[in-house]
Amino acid sequence: MEKRVAVLQGDGIGPEVTEAAVKILEVVARRFNHKFQFNYGSIGGEAIDKFNNPLPEETIALCESSDAILLGAVGGPKWDQNPTELRPEKGLLAIRKHFDLFANLRPVKAVPSLLHASPLKEEVAKNVDMMIVRELTGGIYFGEPSRKTATSAVDTLVYTREEIERIVEKAFELARLRRGKVTSVDKANVLQSSKLWREVVEEMKQGYPDVEVEHQLVDSAAMKLITNPGAFDVVVTENMFGDILSDEASVITGSLGLLPSASVRSDGFGLYEPVHGSAPDVAGKGVANPAAAILSAAMMLRYSFGMETEAATIEKAVETVFEDGHFTADLSGDGDRVHSTKEWTEKVIGEL
Ligand code: ATP
Ligand code: MG
Repeated sequence: MEKRVAVLQGDGIGPEVTEAAVKILEVVARRFNHKFQFNYGSIGGEAIDKFNNPLPEETIALCESSDAILLGAVGGPKWDQNPTELRPEKGLLAIRKHFDLFANLRPVKAVPSLLHASPLKEEVAKNVDMMIVRELTGGIYFGEPSRKTATSAVDTLVYTREEIERIVEKAFELARLRRGKVTSVDKANVLQSSKLWREVVEEMKQGYPDVEVEHQLVDSAAMKLITNPGAFDVVVTENMFGDILSDEASVITGSLGLLPSASVRSDGFGLYEPVHGSAPDVAGKGVANPAAAILSAAMMLRYSFGMETEAATIEKAVETVFEDGHFTADLSGDGDRVHSTKEWTEKVIGEL
C-alpha cells in the first residue's frame, strides 16, 4: 500500500525523535512491502524563523495532500517572549483546528522492565493498559461567552449532541480493537452538559452490544486512576476532564519519553506525536528518547492506515528492547546499557 506521510519535525528534540520514527517506518515498509512517501514541512518555532508563521500555508497544503501527519514537538525558550500569534504552540492548536482533529487518543501502558520508575506500587502499575479518548475541539476551552473583569469572570461549557456522538463513537470503535470496555467520565450529578453526555452514551451503547459500558464521575475516576488503574480499558471524556486525567495517567509509566498520542477525526486522517514537548535541555545532544515518537508512528499505522500487524510488530520490538534492558539516558542514569538516540533506534530495528 502506498501512503503519503507529512513529517513536521518542529523544534528541540523534534527532529531527532522523528528521524528515528521515520527510520523505523522505512524498515517496516521493506518488511511488509508497503511504500511510504515522506514529505517534510515546517511547524512551530522553526516555521516562525523561516516563514514568520507557526503554521505556514505550505505546511497546510502539504498535510492536505497527505494521508497522515507525523509530528515531533514545538516550542523552546527562543520564542517564549513572542506575541501570541507568533508562539510555536499556536501552530499546533491551528493544525488541530484546521483539520478538525476532534479525538485525542492517549494510550498508557506499563512497561514491565520500567515499573521501578512508576510513582505507583509495582503491583498496581503493572496491570495498566488503557486508552484515554479526550474530546479536543469543544467544551469549556472554546465556549462563548468567555471574559473576565476585575470583579467577575465567566467561561462557558457547551456541547452539542453531534460533538458528543462523534467522540463516543470513536471510543466504542477503539474498545472493539482492545478489551471491549468503555468508561465514560462526566460530572452528570452537577453539569447539564454531562447529563446530555451520559444520555448520548446510553443511547449509543445499543449499537455496541459487545462493548461493556460504565459511567464514572470525574472525581471518582481521578481517584481510581491511582488506586486501581488496571481496571480501565478505554476512557472517554470531554475536553477539560480529559486534559486533566490524561496528564494524571501519563505519570503512571514513569517516563514522558514513552508516551505516544494521536489526534484524529472520523475518516481516519490524523496527527501523531509524542506526548512530551521539545525538551530544549537535551536537544541536539543525540540522547533523546525516541520511544514515544516511534510508538506514535505505530499508532499512525494502526489508526490511519489500518495496518494492525505492522503496528503491533513495532510495539513488540520496542517492548523487547526495554525488556532486554536497553534504555536511553532519561530512563537509566548510567551503565553500559544506556544508549544514544541512534543506537537505541538500531536496537529496535534489530528486533524488527
Ligand atoms: P512543553 O511545554 O513543550 O510541553 P514541557 O516543559 O512539558 O514542554 P517536555 O519537553 O515535555 O517539557 O519534557 C520535560 C523534560 O523531560 C524535558 O526537559 C526533558 O528533560 C525530559 N524529556 C521529555 N521528553 C524526553 C525525551 N523524549 N527524551 C529525553 N528526555 C525527555
Ligand atoms: Mg508540557
